[in-house]
Amino acid sequence: MSEIALEFFGAVGEVTGSCTLVHANGRRILVDFGLFQGSEDAEIRNLVPPRVDLSTLTAVVVTHAHIDHCGRLGLLPKYGFTGKIYASTGTADLLPRVLRSSARLQRMRFYERTDGTAPWARALMPGEEPGPAPKLPVIERMYEMAESRDCASRIVPVPLGKEMVIADDVSVRFWNAGHVVGAASVEILVGTGSDRKSVVFSGDLGSYGSPLLAPPESPRHADLVVIESTNGGRRRESGMNPERDIAAVLAEASGDRAKIIVPCFALGRAQQIVHRLSVLRARGELRNFNVYLDSPMAVHGMEALYKHPEYLAPALRSAVEAGEAPLWFPELHYLLSKRESMALDGLVHGGIVIAGSGFMDAGPILRHLEMSVDREDVRVLIGGYQPEGGMSWKLSNGADRLQFNGRIVPVRAKIARVEGL
Ligand SMILES: [Zn+2]
Repeated sequence: MSEIALEFFGAVGEVTGSCTLVHANGRRILVDFGLFQGSEDAEIRNLVPPRVDLSTLTAVVVTHAHIDHCGRLGLLPKYGFTGKIYASTGTADLLPRVLRSSARLQRMRFYERTDGTAPWARALMPGEEPGPAPKLPVIERMYEMAESRDCASRIVPVPLGKEMVIADDVSVRFWNAGHVVGAASVEILVGTGSDRKSVVFSGDLGSYGSPLLAPPESPRHADLVVIESTNGGRRRESGMNPERDIAAVLAEASGDRAKIIVPCFALGRAQQIVHRLSVLRARGELRNFNVYLDSPMAVHGMEALYKHPEYLAPALRSAVEAGEAPLWFPELHYLLSKRESMALDGLVHGGIVIAGSGFMDAGPILRHLEMSVDREDVRVLIGGYQPEGGMSWKLSNGADRLQFNGRIVPVRAKIARVEGL
């Protein structure tokens, strides 16, 4: 009799830190190993591995390359794991870069916090007094570059829909989840013949009808389903038209030096924004704005879409398979280094700058805001969920000053909201 039992080690009663152990006929398979995010406390939790012997896991399976699903994989070598990490072909392509950049970020933050040079920023509501620098604790690194490379060498890419045997009587199959390129629901099949049982992990799911990504798919049968419910209590409103909203901002932004700053996460929203801008360009509504994608990871995400067209919506997929580049347009520029990003500071002819992070709590977006948020011909385009009380939330709720490393900059830029991406 096939038996499946689950143990949850994260993303239970909270959004981040996805990590579930599947016990299947004596095998032990870890599904996702993500970062806890959102507080200093979360960063300390990340250093403590789950109470599981990671060295004897049968295998690890990853649903997608977002850091809250894969960011702790780098801990595996440290705790003796020498097995394989299974992921869809799209995710397998993105994972090594995500893990390397996570190791680099941890190292940078460790040194910046140790010597007190960590950059910081906060938004101030009307009447709110500026304060001293926040006390940022020095957080030990979870893993180093060598460990992220070790992980990368263990990744086995699996095409969507293919049943891959990972142990004698256990196999795994990936189904497109329509969330970001590579994102997949994971079906784990246990046992043989009529005694076969299955458990499906939805991973993060996208919506039906996305103009960029293919709709989610799922197996016809499962004995057990574990489904993400982050947005489960929210009705997705129809009638939202992000293209129209972006076009209105472009039409209204006046002046030769007008700049539109778009905070974005590198995998997901960045590609969606570029796609919407490509549609506007085709309609003649881009108004000669140059578009700067200021994130090597977001650029890699764009390239992954071309490399794995099976994740694209049907019309885009056909175009890519016919050798076209439907998401490209002459005004689109990929910035691949800090030097190129810094060159934007002296931009004299304006443009649309897409940069991370999406919550404006780190990354080059802070520098772009510091340089330009006091200008009346600047627009900051904010959309989607923003954590309450955070920088992006305050900015979209009337903050009138931003504080960067103690320097106060008045907010004169207009904040525009775009929903439905
Ligand atoms: Zn995700």
